[in-house]
Amino acid sequence: MEGASNQKKKGWFKKIFSVILAVTVLVWLAVFDLSSRNTLQVEFFDVGQGDSSLIKTPSGADILIDGGPSLAVLQGLGESLPFWKHDIDLMVLTHPDHDHLAGLLEVLKRYRVKSILWSGAVKDTAEFKEWVRLIAEEHSDIEIARAGTRINFDRDPGHFIEVLYPELDLSGVAVKDTNNSSVVLKLVYGEKKFLFTGDIYSETEEGLSGGDIGLDADVLKVAHHGSKYSASDIFLAKVDPGVAVISVGQNTYGHPSPETLEMLEKYDIKVLRTDLAGDITFITDGQNLSFKTEK
Ligand SMILES: [Zn+2]
Repeated sequence: MEGASNQKKKGWFKKIFSVILAVTVLVWLAVFDLSSRNTLQVEFFDVGQGDSSLIKTPSGADILIDGGPSLAVLQGLGESLPFWKHDIDLMVLTHPDHDHLAGLLEVLKRYRVKSILWSGAVKDTAEFKEWVRLIAEEHSDIEIARAGTRINFDRDPGHFIEVLYPELDLSGVAVKDTNNSSVVLKLVYGEKKFLFTGDIYSETEEGLSGGDIGLDADVLKVAHHGSKYSASDIFLAKVDPGVAVISVGQNTYGHPSPETLEMLEKYDIKVLRTDLAGDITFITDGQNLSFKTEK
């Protein structure tokens, strides 16, 4: 009888020990994740023909801008976020076209999305209706993006995201051209700046260049996958980036166009393309900036 009771005790010790070990491992993994986050990272996922990028802040916020055209974004998030992280702090939809929206629908189904920033512009497609349904179900905090909206992601006033475009509140508006209504964002982290331009055309770029908004950026996400109708001369001169990212995959539109590539060369801007480089990751401490590519 005594033997059986000892066996039982041993079994319990084993179980308790396993639980303690598992908890310890999880705590250390969390500590390791936080300590590896003393820099800000911006990742441009290789999602084929579309856009999707993830900003990971040192304070632990994960900000997803667009989701690309497919499930590829899930792979990017899965590889980039620790396995226990199932929430996105801020999701941004630049405009409701398939190559930016479809992946976000999949993310909404699988992750808890705390806040959403979008223009509110509507589109008559099944995917757009699904977006409206999913964000209502998610009960996220919704912010309509308008020029001047500023989002601070930690306590430092020098760390923020600012909306540069559109000027107007487009909630409920069936815009003529969704590309040209894209939310344009500037991410500022100390001295380093990133400009996200969605799919805007040259005319919008030029309109922004004429104003007194600071467009200067170290990294420019080239508008509309390098289309010849974007990346205008005056805009590139004003932004004056060191690096340009073109998020592009196999397509029949001729993206990126030779005209855009020539224009970027004219300004001696280093070009990184997701179709050639795979995922592209920038790392900055606010003063220095480096990048690595998957391929
Ligand atoms: Zn697009």
